[in-house]
Amino acid sequence: MREFSAPQALFHHVSGLKSSDKSIGLVPTMGALHEGHLSLIKKAKEENDIVIVSVFVNPLQFNNEGDLSGYPRTIASDIKILVSNDVDILFAPSESEMYPSRPSISIQFGELANVLEGKFRKGHFEGVGIVVGKLLHSANPDRAYFGLKDLQQFLLIRKMCEDLSFPVKVVGVETVRNENGLALSSRNLRLTNNGLEIASNIYKGLKIVQSKILSGESVKEIKNQVIRFYETTDGLEIEYFEIVDTINLKPIETYYELDELAICVAGYVDGIRLIDNLYLRLK
Ligand code: AMP
Repeated sequence: MREFSAPQALFHHVSGLKSSDKSIGLVPTMGALHEGHLSLIKKAKEENDIVIVSVFVNPLQFNNEGDLSGYPRTIASDIKILVSNDVDILFAPSESEMYPSRPSISIQFGELANVLEGKFRKGHFEGVGIVVGKLLHSANPDRAYFGLKDLQQFLLIRKMCEDLSFPVKVVGVETVRNENGLALSSRNLRLTNNGLEIASNIYKGLKIVQSKILSGESVKEIKNQVIRFYETTDGLEIEYFEIVDTINLKPIETYYELDELAICVAGYVDGIRLIDNLYLRLK
């Protein structure tokens, strides 16, 4: 595996690969790699000649100092995982290589960034937009892979690439879960064993919504019941829980005429913020 830390060196190397007609897949990550990341890598390997994985904990997208300083950093074991999964290139820039100076531009995503995560994590998506823009410029991939666990992020990045004509296909990959349904996340490393048990109720709530939608109950009734389920789960503190359309991510009142919807939730366990969602096709 080749390793790069300077954006220009990566760009130069990729230009050489592209001139010999190699297709490039990019998997952006913040490291502490798990099976969720590996499913993105697997898909990228299936669809491209060369796979680049980036590992960079982006300070710009954290709106909470404790969350940033406590974010797991496991680069030595990440490298082993990447090598054993036949990844071609690791791009792991330092903070100063990525941000020689603090960016003065800002990216406004509009309405789509003001709901769900955007409502509770001010500035988060602006930071994501800047780092993904930089990664796409440096790696110049044909395809970039994002997890649908971060559904809003996926939709925003896809829109950004369309709006700014990035010549890249943005590919969404299904969420990987543990045996209890808990979505894998680097943040799970910070949970206690008891916390892991409690956190699996996040997905249980989503599955309750799914079964109630399939049996035709009203949105209002479903929301009341699931909010009660979450409220009575000790150790779980829900930040938001919404049933939304998949275009604007706005809360819906009925779903009878929709083709698809998403159930989105964020909450805290052991003081760690976790998110999850379920994407439902109705027709
Ligand atoms: P992160 O390192 O948490 O920033 O995640 C890097 C990429 O992996 C993002 O596109 C995430 O959406 C994706 N990802 C994280 N967890 C999972 C998961 N459990 N299943 C699938 N993709 C995931």
